[in-house]
Amino acid sequence: MQLKSIEIVGFKSFAEKTKIDFPDGMTGIVGPNGSGKSNIAESIRWVLGEQSAKTLRGSKMFDVIFSGSANRKSQSMAAVTLTLDNSDGYVKTPFSEIKVARKLFRNGDSAYFINEKECRLKDIVNMFMDSGIGQGSLSIISQGNVEAIFNSKPEDRRSIVENVAGVYKYKQQKLSAQHELDTTSENLDRVNDIIHELQ
Ligand code: ATP
Repeated sequence: MQLKSIEIVGFKSFAEKTKIDFPDGMTGIVGPNGSGKSNIAESIRWVLGEQSAKTLRGSKMFDVIFSGSANRKSQSMAAVTLTLDNSDGYVKTPFSEIKVARKLFRNGDSAYFINEKECRLKDIVNMFMDSGIGQGSLSIISQGNVEAIFNSKPEDRRSIVENVAGVYKYKQQKLSAQHELDTTSENLDRVNDIIHELQ
């Protein structure tokens, strides 16, 4: 699994379509303060489904759309496409190349795509669950992240370990199964009430 490239348009400081390739080896991104280095890392978080505007240093999600500058008008849409080489089958999907995309329009419309087919956020989250590269994973360490992990509560730190160990996915599935069982049990109670009334 390797990050091949990222295409950004209308996201934060990236008004114009910008493609960044990540060839084999290590890639460093350098630039003056405020030139948009952190915005690149945030665009990766965003396309993988980040829902917290605060995590992206904004107060609402629309803050990610290019808001204009002295000589450029604002954009009506932010779009990010991440291309991953999955020829080693690291992520359990039939695709050897995975393109994940997210779009957000100022009118409130938003959409997610896997290999250019519109999908739900849930499909992206499920695809990357336990891969170590999904939303909120530690594959992206933002400024202040390390300190936050050191200062976090033991139970929060435990969930980080569970995520890395691959247990998290099963915990989520257990929660969802438990929820279905609870609903079914409530339905059965209702049926029993009705039977009781009829007898
Ligand atoms: P540093 O080295 O100081 O950490 P950086 O290179 O990581 O800086 P970023 O924090 O990625 O820079 O980028 C900050 C810039 O992005 C600021 O100039 C800010 O005005 C711009 N920016 C953020 N959101 C938007 C937006 N929605 N529209 C236009 N510009 C934006």
